[in-house]
Amino acid sequence: MRQKLVAGNWKMNGSIKANQQLLESLKQGITDIRADIAVCPPFPYLQQVQALLQGSHIRYGAQNVSHEADGAFTGEVSAAMLVDLACTYVLVGHSERRALYAETDERVAEKFVVAQKAGLIPVLCVGESLHERETGETEKIVKRQLDAVLTVAGVDAFRRAVIAYEPVWAIGTGKTASPEQAQAVHAFIRQHLASQTAGASVAQTVQILYGGSVKANNATELFAMPDIDGGLIGGASLKADEFLAICQAAH
Ligand code: PEP
Repeated sequence: MRQKLVAGNWKMNGSIKANQQLLESLKQGITDIRADIAVCPPFPYLQQVQALLQGSHIRYGAQNVSHEADGAFTGEVSAAMLVDLACTYVLVGHSERRALYAETDERVAEKFVVAQKAGLIPVLCVGESLHERETGETEKIVKRQLDAVLTVAGVDAFRRAVIAYEPVWAIGTGKTASPEQAQAVHAFIRQHLASQTAGASVAQTVQILYGGSVKANNATELFAMPDIDGGLIGGASLKADEFLAICQAAH
């Protein structure tokens, strides 16, 4: 039985004041929830979040990481820095990074490896665009994105990683994949991992999250699907009541 995980991706949102209010409400509301819960604030707030979450079960992570270890890379943040701030998770390959910052499958795979070597749990985001879905390429795209990581890290790396299936057409659009649509891709991801040499047990244990306009009113039916192990939540993670209700659905 896989534990569920609900992770909030705050994207480029928040302020010292708003973060404090949000986290205080989450800490109060989260006490009887058995799922893993995490938040991913922007880099400048990681230390604030670390302090506010002292003694709490809520974990936190970053939204991105450099593929480089250190040195002359202005504006970048290394995996070691995230470990210094006691991050548990880091998102790699979010579709906004892939689309707006031209992150290739290979670059995402490098980030995955660097993050994992440093001791972080990478949350590998994969998913197809609307055009790719409409032309029947969903599995091909998701396989390509997974294979880039499998090639450099091997299937065993998914013992200490999370996968988030996030159809690009569902992110921030209010259009959610139906539970059946999401389940089909999650099952495909698990099958693909299982088809690797010695991949069967990893495929059974890896948490695969769904992301894309998850809200309190659709989380329960999504999380009830057999291969959906929780969610990566964008917009709805900024509202305490909504995020708590989603976490409750993962109970
Ligand atoms: C995301 O940013 O990963 C996401 C799923 O966003 P939203 O929930 O707003 O669609």
